[in-house]
Amino acid sequence: MKVLHVVGARPNFMKAAPVHAALAARGVEQLLVHTGQHYDAAMSDVFFTELGLPEPDANLNVGSGSHTVQTAEVMKRIEPLLVEQRPDWVLVYGDVNSTVAAALVCAKLRIRIAHVEAGLRSFDRSMPEEINRIVTDALSDLLLTPSADGDENLHSEGVDASRIHRVGNVMIDTLVRLLPRAEERWPNLSRDLGIDRYILLTLHRPSNVDDPETLRPIVETLADISARIPVLFPVHPRTAEALRKMNVQTPPAFKLTEPLSYLDFTALQQHATAVITDSGGVQEETTFLGVPCLTMRPNTERPVTIAVGTNTLIGNDLVALRAAVDDILAGRGRRGAIPELWDGRAAERIADVLLTS
Ligand code: UDP
Repeated sequence: MKVLHVVGARPNFMKAAPVHAALAARGVEQLLVHTGQHYDAAMSDVFFTELGLPEPDANLNVGSGSHTVQTAEVMKRIEPLLVEQRPDWVLVYGDVNSTVAAALVCAKLRIRIAHVEAGLRSFDRSMPEEINRIVTDALSDLLLTPSADGDENLHSEGVDASRIHRVGNVMIDTLVRLLPRAEERWPNLSRDLGIDRYILLTLHRPSNVDDPETLRPIVETLADISARIPVLFPVHPRTAEALRKMNVQTPPAFKLTEPLSYLDFTALQQHATAVITDSGGVQEETTFLGVPCLTMRPNTERPVTIAVGTNTLIGNDLVALRAAVDDILAGRGRRGAIPELWDGRAAERIADVLLTS
């Protein structure tokens, strides 16, 4: 059996690494294609080293561009490779443009597609990732879901039950495996950054960062909050550009850094008093770690992090943000529990499903 994995952006790498390892352990022939959607060292190379992913067999170097340009470039560049390789399965991950682009090409070449992290829905089509999720799921032969809500969404869209397999959360496989190594980084990180008690912040969704009228008040509120507890902000390249244009002055207790490596970021999540984010993956990782998470979005495609975990939706309500931070600082943050099948063994279950499908 020959399996070809398509990865392109930061959140894909943590999901592909455990699946690649589980299939390698079963002797499956594998190819890894990097579309180049994320290309700089801090958003890509460092993850290959830390996660133990092999060098990609091909890099399509699509780079930045509008959603249309990126999707079209991946489609154009991946087609000849798929025709040449004719894998038995193509594995696509999550909800990025590379995911939907590869699925479209495979569907027309009649190459079987397995979608890892299938079935998630925010029910918000203004979010570009939601379009990618819907289209990828519609085209995939195997829908590998992380939680029961994923199955329910697919059932209600009329998907045949034989295509759906609830395998659990692969991103948590990586977290379970690397948490001890991340923990080793903590003493130096804490010393070098000069922090002990802090809020960790990530923001990169277009709905928060593209419009200065939205981003400026968020940053100003967080700057106020940093007078009470330091705010550590590893800045995504998209957000860095927006902040540069806005020229907002931030106080010293508001610490901006480059995007962090997986191990450093994991250590900093684990030790944070709270995390404020609009990331999908971070909502899940904080739930696993039992760290209160405040999500700057009106909805989430990962409702289990609210129902079971530590997540609270804040939307863009900055009064609610201040109140939620007050609660956490007063020791009333959510503790939550770990959802079913977020146990570090999702990739093993994926390998089992692939080898028997
Ligand atoms: N992450 C990281 N360094 C950072 C910020 C995030 O390694 O500076 C990791 C985080 O632990 C998670 C993943 O990146 O595993 C989430 O990716 P991102 O927020 O870019 O995408 P999303 O999950 O929103 O699609």
